[in-house]
Amino acid sequence: MVYDYEQVDIPDAGERIEVVDEDADELDIPENPIIPIIHGDGIGKDVGPAAQKVLDAAAKATGREIHWMRVYAGESGRERYDENLPADTVNAIDEFRVAIKGPLTTPVGAGYRSLNVALRQTLDFYANVRPTYYIDGVPSPMKAPEEMDMVTFRENTEDVYAGIEWEQGTDDVEQVREFVEDEMGFDDVMHDGPIGIGIKPISEKGSKRLVRKAIDYAIEHDRDKVTLVHKGNIMKFTEGQFGTWGMEVAEEEYPDDEVFAAPDSLWETQDEVEIPEDAVMVEERLADAMLQWMQLRTDEFDVLAMPNLNGDYLSDAAGAQIGGLGIAPGANFGDARVLAEPVHGSAPKRAGQDKANPTAMILSGRLMFDYMGWKDASQLIYDAVEATISAGTVTYDLERQIEGGEKLATSEFADEVVENIEDLA
Ligand code: NAD
Repeated sequence: MVYDYEQVDIPDAGERIEVVDEDADELDIPENPIIPIIHGDGIGKDVGPAAQKVLDAAAKATGREIHWMRVYAGESGRERYDENLPADTVNAIDEFRVAIKGPLTTPVGAGYRSLNVALRQTLDFYANVRPTYYIDGVPSPMKAPEEMDMVTFRENTEDVYAGIEWEQGTDDVEQVREFVEDEMGFDDVMHDGPIGIGIKPISEKGSKRLVRKAIDYAIEHDRDKVTLVHKGNIMKFTEGQFGTWGMEVAEEEYPDDEVFAAPDSLWETQDEVEIPEDAVMVEERLADAMLQWMQLRTDEFDVLAMPNLNGDYLSDAAGAQIGGLGIAPGANFGDARVLAEPVHGSAPKRAGQDKANPTAMILSGRLMFDYMGWKDASQLIYDAVEATISAGTVTYDLERQIEGGEKLATSEFADEVVENIEDLA
């Protein structure tokens, strides 16, 4: 789709990323792509430009050049267009396929939908992906944080996040109560008096495409295992069905020597099972148990695929194990499209002070490079960030936890990473 833009320009130089096959998630990536970027609100004003500088340096060091297309949303959208999420911005992310954004503030008050949710829904970014790995030198509450090297795939469009709910005291909620009690036969389940009711849709389409993305990622990145995390022992027809549909994808859509669906993995250990060499094993785990195993047997997990709510809780818990928000990267994947974004929000208290940690946004850019197949540039970013942090040169959030650390401003930290990129290239 090619759009006309009202208040932003497509860079003159640079080439478009073209879709080769949307269903197969295949893009044609030139060496000089046009990439839309939203710096973001609050600390986005600090970490956005800092990350951009680092990504430019890594591209340059590997013989490439990014032609950025600045687009606006949130506060900068309201200033320029009097709109939170201008059509120019949505259209640019749609047209150019690969994009990155900083955090956006959702103004408090009625009538404001979360911008992030709106963006994900409008462009059908159905998988929220968070790699969670340890960087040498980052303070962590764990004894062996280096054992963590996981990627979580969180379903992004349904579950209790679909927003189908009714407020206590309304006619609507009473109608739903009546329907559930009288027509569906659950007459003794709900308490009398005021009640709020929500609905948890989990579909075959939503579950299967998410699990397929996670398995494809595991194959492409030489991962050993995909764990489907759900609470199917209690919510049989939603969470349990997610597991069943996920295992169907593993069994039916891939050859056995490529993807091995572990039999009865919820209840049986797999010690005796013979897994074809080099195959990705797909297993199921209950969400409550998983929160324990993640801490007690961290190194056993690899790629996780989950419905929306489990993914929300689990990916934050995993992030805490390796040092928290300032360094946690993420991205939203759709079919042949990606929107990278750090996990953290706009931290308004620190905004515009050149203090916040840009690592999460830098590593989100790294994930975007990975998606583009720029593995050398992605590795260079990882090595340079690790070299910078392990030397103890860090932003305030890490400095206060590292003995003898040196506190750098956002921009200074980015400069240090750029220098390390140039040294390592
Ligand atoms: P937050 O992530 O902005 O801040 C939580 C805490 O983490 C704060 O103490 C903050 O100082 C710290 N922190 C976050 N990022 C940091 C960084 N890069 N360096 C150093 N410290 C960092 O979460 P919040 O306070 O709940 O939300 C603030 C605003 O951000 C809200 O308007 C919320 O809607 C929005 N938000 C946006 C996104 C997004 O755009 N994807 C995600 C979460 C929250």
